Amino acid sequence: MKHVTLPTGEQVPALGMGTWMIGEDRASRAGEIAALQRGIDLGMTLIDTAEMYGDGASERLVGEAIKGRRERVFLVSKFYPHHATVRGARTACEGSLGRLGVDCLDLYLLHWRGEVPFEETIEAVERLREQGKIRHWGVSNLDIRDMKELRALPGGERAAVNQVLYNLSRRGVEWDLLPWCEQARIPLMAYSPVEQARLLRHPGLRALAARHGATPAQLALAWLLTREQVIAIPKASTRAHLEENFAALECPIDAATLAELDRLFPPPQRATPLEML
Ligand code: NAP
Repeated sequence: MKHVTLPTGEQVPALGMGTWMIGEDRASRAGEIAALQRGIDLGMTLIDTAEMYGDGASERLVGEAIKGRRERVFLVSKFYPHHATVRGARTACEGSLGRLGVDCLDLYLLHWRGEVPFEETIEAVERLREQGKIRHWGVSNLDIRDMKELRALPGGERAAVNQVLYNLSRRGVEWDLLPWCEQARIPLMAYSPVEQARLLRHPGLRALAARHGATPAQLALAWLLTREQVIAIPKASTRAHLEENFAALECPIDAATLAELDRLFPPPQRATPLEML
């Protein structure tokens, strides 16, 4: 497994697992749990969930999947912006811990910026950290201006990651946010790394992947994995997709392939607002 270093020096897998839309359908439950457990066994031990996903259904399923495996997992969850107050975050965190069946989250993210001032949110998550309910905290969907504002506040330097939309078809972050985060040593967690499967239908990507003896998903993930400080969190609800994605770690990308990907999916030529799904 390739690893990415958090600002504290702790290493986390560069390829983890997303869980949006997981746990919502009884019929696929067993397959989803088996896929997550297979991922843990393979070393994709970073699992991303949120209180929002299925109104807690994703966290409950993750809780079931990690039973007996907790110590191997780097567990990430997120709280709503309207829970970003001291009292709201405590209640939200206790809810997530209960659904996940754990005592502590490894990383707790503000899902997106809302009305609550950053100062109060920092106080809220710092209290949770002091109480041992979370080990690290971070943010999601924050553009560069918000990141700079957060970072300048007392305690803001403790933000461990920024989780944002980043994939071959959404490269806007490369203009300013990614270089800024690299400089600040804050890893980017790339969500929707295969653009919720839409990317996999791209004819150019399909042709290039075929020439490499890889699948479009593997090439899209392998491209993200060439970035030093990026953590990709594809969601796979089947063991077949999960194993296919894991094999992206073994998918070599040479300079000619990178150039061809730049031609198919050009890097940004100007600053653009951060996109969100
Ligand atoms: P994604 O990971 O880009 O795509 C997931 C979709 O791609 C699923 O339909 C999945 O199908 C399919 N897929 C995965 N691997 C495949 C493969 N090898 N071959 C064919 N299809 C494949 O999209 P995402 O779920 O939106 O993003 C990943 C995670 O990021 C989420 O699950 C969530 O944890 C997080 N996220 C965070 C935010 C945020 O605001 N912070 C927003 C969006 C997502 P199956 O399910 O059938 O395997």
